[in-house]
Amino acid sequence: MKDVLESTSRGLYCVPGDFYIDPCLPVNRAVVTHAHSDHARWGCKRYLAAKPCEQLLRMRMSPDAEFRFLPYGETITIGGVQISFYPAGHILGSAQIRLEYQGLVILITGDYKLGYDSTCDSWQPMRCHHMISESTFGLPIYRWPSQQVVFESINQWWRDCREQGKCCVLYGYAIGKSQRLLAGLDPTIGTIYCHGAVQKGNEAYRRTGIHLPETTYVGSVTGKHDWKGAMVVAVPSVHGTPWLKKFGRYSTAMASGWMAVRGARRRRSVDRGYVLSDHVDWPSLMTAIHECNPETVWLTHGFTATVARYLVEQGRDARVLDLLGRDLGEEDKDEEESSDEDFIDEPIGQGNESPEIEATTS
Ligand SMILES: [Zn+2]
Ligand SMILES: [Zn+2]
Repeated sequence: MKDVLESTSRGLYCVPGDFYIDPCLPVNRAVVTHAHSDHARWGCKRYLAAKPCEQLLRMRMSPDAEFRFLPYGETITIGGVQISFYPAGHILGSAQIRLEYQGLVILITGDYKLGYDSTCDSWQPMRCHHMISESTFGLPIYRWPSQQVVFESINQWWRDCREQGKCCVLYGYAIGKSQRLLAGLDPTIGTIYCHGAVQKGNEAYRRTGIHLPETTYVGSVTGKHDWKGAMVVAVPSVHGTPWLKKFGRYSTAMASGWMAVRGARRRRSVDRGYVLSDHVDWPSLMTAIHECNPETVWLTHGFTATVARYLVEQGRDARVLDLLGRDLGEEDKDEEESSDEDFIDEPIGQGNESPEIEATTS
């Protein structure tokens, strides 16, 4: 694989194609998996991404950059390397990048999850020789509950708050998580308001043709307003700030994969924690590897060594891929738009111990 891809201080570099994948510093040519800031870096000269990523990427990156967008499944050849994008199911426009060079196929999953999400195309397996997979939640304790059950309990919390004359404040990242939450809310319960960063993301989703319930920008509400029974979707960074004062009596909730870990909700000091992640949990990570059936699995992010060890015990060739420079250029990583890594907590245990899910039972 080394002749094709190498880990450099600027990120994963494709040698024959002379481009970087999700570079961590500005480069000439960036091929990006999705629009989250730890993957799409500001300041690159040229960006290549999947077509449904267009609105989000243009919204986030400098307008002076050159953009090229490729529909899922189509191929472009750069320096003899065939590049194509396939849905990753993570957020709108997220892609797995498939590289083929002289018969060798490398798949870079980027952030991904399996299963249905009405706000983006679903992940699909790709056969490959080398699979570079994230393992953010690569421990057997991470098993996501059905999203239907999660959405039902969020809507029930909203109804309860409405009856108690409170306003709901639900935290999700500005891009991806918030829109998935919005799509799962029942707008017949009350009016939905959004923090400015979320509302901006909503507009990019709507321009791409994704249906979301009607939302009102919080900042557009002036004068005295009764927030009882309202749902406010906001970025986690407003938690504990004076921004919340205007809502009067309110209840807060966080939606994240990290809420599967005992104590996470308390540590974030929110009233509710809902287990909802846009990353693969342990069972779907194993399913993905099984279905892509690579000769070698390379693990990045999170519990890489644990997953690699487990796979080797299962008879697979699995290795940890050190992404050099991953900690560089992180200063522009806003909490609201980054992935769940910000919420790393001590896992409650190894093995098959089942985590207490504080969220969905209330
Ligand atoms: Zn990420
Ligand atoms: Zn992401």
